[in-house]
Amino acid sequence: MSPLSNLAVRDIETVIHPYTNLATHRETGPLILERGKGIRVWDTDGKEYIEGLAGLWCTSLGYGNEELVEAAAEQMRTLSYTHLFGSKSHDPAIELAEKLKEIVPCEASKVLFCSSGSEANDQQVKLTWYYNNARGRPEKKKIISRIKGYHGVTVASGSLTGLPPVHMDFDLPIKNILHTECPHHYRFAEDGETEAEFVARMARSLEEMIQREGPETVAAFIAEPIMGAGGVIIPPEGYYQAIQAVLEKYDVRFISDEVICGFGRTGSMFGAETFGMKPHSVSMAKAITSAYVPLGAVTVEEDLYQAMLDESRKIGTFGHGYTYTGHPVAAAVSLKVLEIYERDGIVERAATLSPVFEKRFEALAAHPLVGDVRARGMIGAIELVADKTTKAPFDPKAGIGGYCVARAQDHGLISRAVAGDSVALCPPLIIEESEVHEMFDRLEKALDDTEAHVAKEGLR
Ligand code: PMP
Repeated sequence: MSPLSNLAVRDIETVIHPYTNLATHRETGPLILERGKGIRVWDTDGKEYIEGLAGLWCTSLGYGNEELVEAAAEQMRTLSYTHLFGSKSHDPAIELAEKLKEIVPCEASKVLFCSSGSEANDQQVKLTWYYNNARGRPEKKKIISRIKGYHGVTVASGSLTGLPPVHMDFDLPIKNILHTECPHHYRFAEDGETEAEFVARMARSLEEMIQREGPETVAAFIAEPIMGAGGVIIPPEGYYQAIQAVLEKYDVRFISDEVICGFGRTGSMFGAETFGMKPHSVSMAKAITSAYVPLGAVTVEEDLYQAMLDESRKIGTFGHGYTYTGHPVAAAVSLKVLEIYERDGIVERAATLSPVFEKRFEALAAHPLVGDVRARGMIGAIELVADKTTKAPFDPKAGIGGYCVARAQDHGLISRAVAGDSVALCPPLIIEESEVHEMFDRLEKALDDTEAHVAKEGLR
């Protein structure tokens, strides 16, 4: 290993890295990126990488988009900041709320802005609680998410997340948050269980949970159409229809967390459309600005808005909001991003390119390391296993997913190991067909290196 650069040493001594093994980081140091253009980024040594995960599933329009730079600069010149507290407003927030209301896959009455996916889902929890208090049902407070779901890391959104490292040592989850089963047929189907039987069992299990808890106490259910950070898990056909029937039966608010799936990722504008989901509300972030600046948003349905109005008439101020709720620069950038998505047919482009992407994924199923292949639209993952027949995973201590991702990085591809040994790809949606092939060629080299490592170290 080459000696750490001065910048790397300074990083180690000053910066806490999220979702990083802080002990290993002291040895290996950071990958320090310096610039980006299109789907590629370069590090401080001038090495080029394909950003195969669009940053953190977010830079849909890639890097160095001058139109977005100009939209931000123009808004900064005109009015760099104003807020929405106490009835103040500004044009970009109004226009963006109108635009989002038009395109979301639910009946939205209003939009409540924030600055991240975590904040968006935090707002969903608070709004759900607020609604039931306002409607005189203070006992209807429980929110169900799913094991392996990812909804953020704030105290409430981290509680919704169904991954142990997000809970451990943080005293999460908080009360009133429950986790139902993960709809991953490959991992969680019982012996010989068909997808249809599996789906029926998932719905039954949810219904049993609601009955056990008392339907009068269950307020909401939140789901990512495709689970991202939990392993890019795509539910079987009919899953959401079965789940929705249960939610409707017990008057449970259905929230689609579109933080990754929103804005074209699955080949439709929203993941809810791809899967035929009928949510009451959606959470948005990431590609809403193509990650040029932070922005999040949730939609508020008419019934909820009326409850908020009634409450305001009774007690006054709606007591929630951030300094950066509807930040004008973020709103201006988002408006330009949405204009580009429409003008350049970015969603259609994702749908058109998706068969190429999915086919290259499917071809990886033949690799000796690959147990499960999951891909839809322009998001996918391979799950690396020690034994393809028994589906036995590698010993987590062997860090095989991380090893593969490190080799991919050597070959000029940035990807990410999710939920252990699944390696995910989610490139910017501006990717060209030839670049899709380039990306997979690099991944294949990393897989071969990983197979050689497994054989050499006797890891299976
Ligand atoms: N929801 C989903 C589906 C996500 O993937 C993420 C982030 N990966 C979040 C919420 C949290 O977003 P943020 O990191 O912007 O807080």
